[in-house]
This record gives sequence, C-alpha cells and structure tokens, in this order.
Amino acid sequence: MYQSILDFLTHEGASYGDVRVHLVDEAEHISTLNGSVRSYTLESKKGYGIRALFNGAWGFASSEDLSENGMLSCAKLALDKARASSLAVKFPIQLSVKDIFKDTYNTKVEIDPFSVPVADKVERLLSIDNKLSHERFDFWGTYVSFYKRKMMIVDTEGSQIERNLMEIDGSIFVSAKDADGLTQRRTHALYLDHNGTSGWENFMTDRFDQALRIKDELLAVLDAPVCEKEVVDLILLNDMMALQTHETIGHALELDRILGYELSYAGGSHIDLKHFGSLKFGSSKLNARADGTVKNSPGSIGYDDDGVKARNVLMIENGILKDAITSRQMITEANAVAGREVFSESGATCRAESYNRMPIERMNNINVDFGQDGNLDELISKVENGIIMDAPRSWSIGSNRENFHFACEIGWRVKNGKITGVVRNPSYRGDSLKFWNALKYVGNEQTWKLVPVFNCGKGQPNQVMRLGHGVPVCVFSNVQVGD
Ligand SMILES: [Zn+2]
Repeated sequence: MYQSILDFLTHEGASYGDVRVHLVDEAEHISTLNGSVRSYTLESKKGYGIRALFNGAWGFASSEDLSENGMLSCAKLALDKARASSLAVKFPIQLSVKDIFKDTYNTKVEIDPFSVPVADKVERLLSIDNKLSHERFDFWGTYVSFYKRKMMIVDTEGSQIERNLMEIDGSIFVSAKDADGLTQRRTHALYLDHNGTSGWENFMTDRFDQALRIKDELLAVLDAPVCEKEVVDLILLNDMMALQTHETIGHALELDRILGYELSYAGGSHIDLKHFGSLKFGSSKLNARADGTVKNSPGSIGYDDDGVKARNVLMIENGILKDAITSRQMITEANAVAGREVFSESGATCRAESYNRMPIERMNNINVDFGQDGNLDELISKVENGIIMDAPRSWSIGSNRENFHFACEIGWRVKNGKITGVVRNPSYRGDSLKFWNALKYVGNEQTWKLVPVFNCGKGQPNQVMRLGHGVPVCVFSNVQVGD
C-alpha cells in the first residue's frame, strides 16, 4: 500500500517523498508523592506523516486514517502544500545523497514495561518513595515514564526501515525549606546503564542507595553556608556536565540554528559557517561528538527520519570545531551558502516528535569523550581552591548560546585537594567559548556516564525530544561562582 502512495508522489512530479508511519506510539507515566500514587497516565496514538518535495519546497501532511484512500488524500495534501510553497521558496531544497537501507532496528529490551501489571510498577515506586521520607522534608517522590513506538519509513529512493523503540525515564526527588525559607531539592535520575537495556528490568535493580544518598545530601544543603561570590576552579559532575554540554555545545551546533531557522523561538547560534575547521571552541582536552550509535540511549534510534543510518560524528576534535548536528537538507544549503564543502554527509539527526510533525535537526547523543586525568578522587586531589557542583536547579542561556548562568542543587567546597563541606545555592556563569577553553582536566572512563534527557524543546509547533549526553566529570579553571 505504501508503494502506491510513493508511486503517486513520483508520478505527480515530486522529486522526493516519504511516508513515516507510527503503527504503535504509546507512553505510560506513573508518579508518587509523599507515599501515595500522585498520577497515572496512559497515552496511545497511531498515524502517519507524508513529506513531498516539489520544485525545491517541502509539503507535509499527517493523518490518522490508515486506509489507502486516507493515505492518498494525505499525500495529495502534502503535494499541494509543496506546490504552493515552491512559489515562495528562497533556497530551493536539495537533499544530500544517502545510502539506501531495507532494515529493522530494535531497542534492546528484556521485559516490556507495558506488559508488567500496573500494580507491580506502582508497588516498586512506592517502595523507593518510602525510603525518601524525612520529618524535615515537605515533599518527596518518584516518577517513571515508558515510551514505546513501532515505526515504518518508506521513501521514493527505496528505503524501507522499521524501528521498534523503547525508552524509559525515571527520577526520584526530595524537597524541603532551608533556614531562609527557600525551597531546596535534590533529585536523582534513574540512570540507564549504557551497556544495558531499556526494559522494565532496569527498575528491578536496587535504587535504595541513591534514595538514601539524596536524602543525606539535602539535609546537608539545608544547614550549609551559602556559596560565596568568587573565582575558583569548578568541578562539574555528570548531571551538570550534561546540561552544560546540552545548552552550549548541543544547541549551539544545530545546523538549522546556525543557518538562522530557529531565531524566532529559542534563538540562534554564535557559530558561523566560516568557523568550521578553524575555531578554537575549547581547550585541546575537548573532544565532543554527535553519536547516534551509543548503546541504550533515547538518542539512539538506528536511523533518523530521513532514513539515514546512525553515525558517530566527531564535532570538536582537540578543541577545534569540525562538524555539526546535521540533516540531508541543511548540509546542502550550508555548503552552498559557505561556497565550499563544509559538511560531507548527513549526521543522521533529523527527527520528529511524532507522526504529525516535520522532522528537524535534533540532538541524538551529544557526548564529551572521557580523558586521562583520573577518577573523581584524583580530579579533586588536583584542585587547590574549587567547588564541585551537581544537578541543574535553574538555567538561563544567551539567545545565541554565547553565554550562560546555571544554578545547581548542591555544591561541595574543595581546599587543597580535599572536600571541606557542602555549600547552598551554588551557581556559576561564563561565556561559552571562554568556558570550554578553560577546560583543565577531563575525567577518565570511570567518571563517564550516559545522562538521558527527556525534555528538549525545539521548533514551531514545539517538539519535545528524547536524547542523551555521555559525559565525564570535568574541571574548569577560573570560573565565576556564587554570582
Ligand atoms: Zn534542549
């Protein structure tokens, strides 16, 4: 049936067309609060989106009517939109060449969380929730989300790709008021082991240690001195490294942003096409990549929605900017605008939130390579005067990602290579390039963790995307903190 839709698009003059069908698209969310179930949601939808490229312009339409007539009407609508858009297109769209695949990609899952009785899942969460309570806490709780999709992509170039994807998200938190009446919190994402799986079996392992840890840490924060304003060495643990990487490497290096296509919503980028190949983005210790091949991450989906096979793209090599987060469409435009071949092939990062959205450039796994500067204890031992920070509390970023200010849930003072105590309300700020160029030490493989992100927003209409950041613990010199 899909072939007849593709034949129709070709016959009517489309230079390219594709059909992306979500045969299964389900999400289940469970949360607990203060020892009780707070919410339970089960979502299920099914539908498809059709893209048609006509005279250098896209047309897109989506529908839930999976009959042949329904799909044909949807294809006609996509084509009509492309024809109309082609009258006003400024840069005629060309898609870069891709390899053609007929393939199936499956996320590794042992126990489908949707097959586990809800009562068992609730019982598991409440058992963790019970460990979180304390007389000084106002709120504590847990949540999990499970996402399951079965998707097909077929296109006029011959691609036939099936993807069966599962993603799991979970977190625990505790919250209380400090002596000044300000709310403090500690959270812990229930990390996936990147060598593991994305099934319910991940929640069968013991989470109680982490629950007890964040309780102790919040109690320490409540009575801790406030982080003073000063310039020190900053040690970022994985959750903060993930946010730092997300906001100042990830979003800054989305090629559609660099070309000016996101200006009206969440800003542009301070990066220009002329910077690729020469800009010193960070110190020589910085190696960052857009890696769609990391095991067991919501950013790893086998193929993007252009049907391009997942790649591992080194974007920053020894501090020098080399590549970006790219799609088939944007690299041809970028190369034309730059007047040289800046990008040789798509990085396979074109994704849509669901069947009823156009795919756009999205982060897959934006990772920082681990280094050779030791484990966490060894990193701390190298710091004379510094602060360790973890877990985002609030963040603001320049509209072109050129500067930032982040507040964290917890900080630890470091003097002469040793932790001397906890600080409250830790924060830091900086200019993106200056900050990454001040990268002094990069932790070893032991410190490298995959931090999943389930709430990255982009596009109009907004699309929320799930992705990951594999990051080590890092140390930055001379950072303004407490301001
Ligand atoms: Zn984001």
